[in-house]
Amino acid sequence: MDKFVGYKCSLCGAEYTEGQVTYTCPVDGGNLDVVINADLLSRSEAKHNVTSSPDPSIWRYLPLLPVSKMIGENTPMQAVGGTPVFLHPHSKEFGVQQLLIKDESRNPTASFKDRASAVVVARAMEIGKEIVVTASTGNAGAALAGISAAVGQRSIIFAPKTAPPAKIAQLLVFGAQVILVDGTYDDAFDLSVIAANEFGWYCRNTGYNPFTVEGKKTAAFEVWEYFYRQQGSPDVVDMVDVSVVVSVGDGNIISGIHKGFKDLCLLGWINQSPRIIGIQSENSAAVANAFFAGNEQIVPVRATTIADSISVDLPRDGVRAVRAATETGGSYLLVPDSEIIQAIGLVGKIGIFAEPAGATAYAGFLKAKQAGYFNPKSKVVVFNTGSGLKDVNSAMRSVQPAPIIEPRMDKLKELLKI
Ligand SMILES: *Cc1c(COP(=O)(O)O)cnc(C)c1O
Ligand SMILES: [Zn+2]
Repeated sequence: MDKFVGYKCSLCGAEYTEGQVTYTCPVDGGNLDVVINADLLSRSEAKHNVTSSPDPSIWRYLPLLPVSKMIGENTPMQAVGGTPVFLHPHSKEFGVQQLLIKDESRNPTASFKDRASAVVVARAMEIGKEIVVTASTGNAGAALAGISAAVGQRSIIFAPKTAPPAKIAQLLVFGAQVILVDGTYDDAFDLSVIAANEFGWYCRNTGYNPFTVEGKKTAAFEVWEYFYRQQGSPDVVDMVDVSVVVSVGDGNIISGIHKGFKDLCLLGWINQSPRIIGIQSENSAAVANAFFAGNEQIVPVRATTIADSISVDLPRDGVRAVRAATETGGSYLLVPDSEIIQAIGLVGKIGIFAEPAGATAYAGFLKAKQAGYFNPKSKVVVFNTGSGLKDVNSAMRSVQPAPIIEPRMDKLKELLKI
């Protein structure tokens, strides 16, 4: 396929053809970037095809994806992506021109991970793999299980037994084979890789399979298209005052968003990448630590954050995650878990229900604003990466419990003090 040229190692720069490798660089284990053929794309009618597509899902970007065709037409697969962007009603009070929240909880399995699973499953079907496996803290598994169910693909999920019950329920309801590991996500990761190699399964693991980033980059395309329309469909969209704020665990979402903007730069459809700001919990800070140290050396931590989706000891896509900030003039910020819990309540008040890892980006936005990152011309896109329904226990920690009364008017008046 001409639009998919091959892979390039993010560490040593070695290039590979499509058939030479499947996951990471055989020399140094580095994550592989999928290389697209920008010449072919810019010459073609790709932009017109994209912007005039009637399909709001990620499949409108098929000309820019390394798979030959969309799968799962008229199934939940076709609800992946196309997530809404909400303008915060009090943007001006934050001292920015626009505070925008991109709500990824609207994806079919209620997290950003659907974007990756969609493209990985499309790839699996293209190369004839019968079984797709992943290790997951919950959302990646739910996404793989849900997308697989939609298109009739078999999936196997390894998750830590401590994953929130709602996420485990999703895995089971979608009919995946679920294996709960008495250990951490990192333990589940290692076991799934060994099993995939031994049994010939296709492994979706985050920061391991190069196609997850290709799915996740569609979020950057949607940000581009949002400003493309806002700016009146210019040839080159101006991203000078745009910042993107996103939470970081393994570092694959932020790398995917960065890849999307890099592809758009190659195509000449934007004048520069927006500034990318990664947010981690103080209790799971391996990527931010490397960024602050000014190098790309990822030193594992012992993650203990309440935000389970970003609780990662050894980020599997740490190097590219650091670069997403350094190469775009962005940054990393850390927030304590107390501010993550608070942020669930704050985005709730504007009608968005976020899980802890989703609210983390909003907590980080508030911190970045205080630190003087923005000005009155800034347009800031804050990602809510997952739904609050995924983790109701954490949601309850962000609010006061509701009072219980006897069903009588006098008791109601007593309570309301009227
Ligand atoms: C996976 C996930 C993240 C973090 O993505 P990484 O690629 O691990 O950095 C953030 N929020 C939610 C809801 C997620 O599921
Ligand atoms: Zn390499």
